Amino acid sequence: MTGSGQKRDPKTLRPATQLVHGGSLRSEFGETSEAIFLTQGFVYPSMEAAEARMKGDEPGYVYSRFSNPTVAMFEERMALFEGAEAARATASGMAAVTASLFAQVKAGDHVVAARALFGACLYVVEDLLPRFGVASTLVDGADLAQWRAAIRPETKVFFLESPTNPCLEVYDIAAIAAIAHQTGARLVVDNVFASPILQKPLALGADLVVYSATKHIDGQGRCLGGVILGSWELIETDIHAFLRQTGPVLSPFNAWVLLKSLETLPLRVRQQMENAGRIADFLSGHRHILSVRYPGRPDHPQADIIKRQMAGGGTIVAFELSGGKQAAFAFANRLSLIKISNNLGDAKSLITHPATTTHQRLTPEARAALGVNEGLLRLSVGLEDADDLIDDLEAALSSLDRQGLAAE
Ligand SMILES: *Cc1c(COP(=O)(O)O)cnc(C)c1O
Repeated sequence: MTGSGQKRDPKTLRPATQLVHGGSLRSEFGETSEAIFLTQGFVYPSMEAAEARMKGDEPGYVYSRFSNPTVAMFEERMALFEGAEAARATASGMAAVTASLFAQVKAGDHVVAARALFGACLYVVEDLLPRFGVASTLVDGADLAQWRAAIRPETKVFFLESPTNPCLEVYDIAAIAAIAHQTGARLVVDNVFASPILQKPLALGADLVVYSATKHIDGQGRCLGGVILGSWELIETDIHAFLRQTGPVLSPFNAWVLLKSLETLPLRVRQQMENAGRIADFLSGHRHILSVRYPGRPDHPQADIIKRQMAGGGTIVAFELSGGKQAAFAFANRLSLIKISNNLGDAKSLITHPATTTHQRLTPEARAALGVNEGLLRLSVGLEDADDLIDDLEAALSSLDRQGLAAE
């Protein structure tokens, strides 16, 4: 321990402070930065101690597949900030999603999910769960009647993302949680697009929140990671047992990278969001743009829900160019600062054409049902100066005129 002041209960600290100090475990050396415990196992002072620790009679680490001090710091910092009783980190966002679903079901059970899901999440719900005897139903997440109608006696889990990828639809998390709970099902929310800064699904009634820490939490394009948060009971029983026995755990090195990232998360998300708002305003009404979808704008179709459940519009803007795929490709190929990538939540602004990349696997009908049109682009706004980003967008839009690809 350093300093002689009284140690405060970390739960009473304000959010920005929690993200800098929360969960820190200092070794005997008193290091300032969190230590990387790059170790597989742990040694015991005696056989008796090994026996007691393995039995759980004595606290302490046993093996890094079960827990690791650097990973534990990341988990505790995330739990504090999210307002969750407990958290478990995973190797990637998909490991978090898969564990959060598979740990809660058995053959014969049923899962209901909103249809607008990240591609790999859709695969897990639509293809993988049924292979193990768990039926799944996909609904239009915005239509509460469809959630109600999908319920069966064996329904165990509701799953959704909000805002959705890539069309940024927003669902009423509190209302959907209430429908799930009426039948004894649990709600899992993939909160990646909102980030932990802008939306707190547990406070809205969700039972588990999952993140791809790869996105805003790392925020600088370096490592993959994931985290599952919820009640002590759910995390310490079902989720912990599943992760510990199947092994998709976070590396201590990546946990260390993510711990450093959490220190700057609010600053980054706030700045990226400010940039995204300016870009959404610039794009809306531009003559080559058919529509702009940004949860921070009053013209968003679910603006009333957003006001209730989000603290801001997020860092991602979706927009549709007139001229379909040809115009979308020509425009994106002309960008120079904004890079073409299917990733998101990075300090670098990234643009993707969902119809030919992230949503390529879907049938044209399924894409149309989700609003993934040929002219749609998803822009993940980074930390560059917004004026430089707008200059880049403006130059690429103007190039459409010269190429004769502008709207008639
Ligand atoms: C990226 C992403 C995932 C998957 O995360 P990985 O870290 O790539 O495994 C899941 N859900 C959403 C909404 C995502 O954006």
